Amino acid sequence: ENISNIIAAGEVVENYASLIKELYENSLDAKAKNILIEISDKLNYIKITDDGTGMQKDDIYLSVERHATSKISKKDDIFNLSSFGFRGEALASIAAVSKMNISSKTNDMKIGHMVTIYGGNIIADKSVAMKTGTVIEIRNLFYNTPARKKFLNKESTEIMNIKDIVLKLALSAVEVSTNLVIDGKSVIKTSGRGIDNTVYEVFGKGIFKNLKKFKYGYLGNSEIFRASKNYIFTYVNNRYTKSNLIERAVIDAYYMKLMKHKYPFAIIFYDINPSEVDVNVHPSKKIVKFSDEKIVYGQIKKEIEDFFRLDDR
Ligand code: ADP
Ligand code: MG
Repeated sequence: ENISNIIAAGEVVENYASLIKELYENSLDAKAKNILIEISDKLNYIKITDDGTGMQKDDIYLSVERHATSKISKKDDIFNLSSFGFRGEALASIAAVSKMNISSKTNDMKIGHMVTIYGGNIIADKSVAMKTGTVIEIRNLFYNTPARKKFLNKESTEIMNIKDIVLKLALSAVEVSTNLVIDGKSVIKTSGRGIDNTVYEVFGKGIFKNLKKFKYGYLGNSEIFRASKNYIFTYVNNRYTKSNLIERAVIDAYYMKLMKHKYPFAIIFYDINPSEVDVNVHPSKKIVKFSDEKIVYGQIKKEIEDFFRLDDR
């Protein structure tokens, strides 16, 4: 049992950024309005605090068992996926390769409950005073799998990747206040006050004022970063995804406009009926596949082209 969790951990958590993504998405699923991510001690301490629904005592124990998701109630749900997690592996996997505390309290509970798990084994539990929500603390990731630990990048690279993922996550949840604090210093902070404020807050004023809003998000060019590459952030149903199709549509639409001298910067929010999109093609749930690629490509390309046409007048 522990061995299979450790193996699964390799698929679910490759590094700190993927771990934080899983935890953040769990907080979103729990309808949190405020998510605080704190990192210290050279990445050896990670704490994520949310004000979501929390878990009942029994559910805390269940949450670290593999495949114990509360999110698939019928087979169809796998295909009509709107919540983020669905495989019930993240917490179990992370618990198997770290020293973890899970504390949680629902509105019905007077006092919260904390469970301590080392390397997948529950070693302690107790009542704790806390607000409604969930607090997950992770110490010493991969402490019991030194071979895995070796595959982590150096600290500065891991931190860069964490900032990158939190930025992308914060943009996916514009009604949620996200705060990433590293060694006591807030490095990304959003207010949860909608899309415009969130884009402003994560990219800063200088970049924000160079962006233009269109039907599917924001358009600019990567010169605003003094960069010569494409920056195309894609959200499908508010989930950060990698879509070659959407990237292609953006690049193709920009081609005439920019004449290859500049590269697009675009944040695309594309909403589609969940049954028209497959988010399960990749275990990390980043790559999506659309059932009708032509329509998606066509819509996005056309909207950008029309936007430029109007903008030029
Ligand atoms: P999944 O998200 O795929 O269901 P996870 O391993 O990520 O699997 O989480 C297991 C379960 O633990 C979830 O289904 C949910 O019931 C519970 N859970 C995890 N994180 C939270 C949280 N922050 N707030 C409330 N419940 C949570
Ligand atoms: Mg999850």
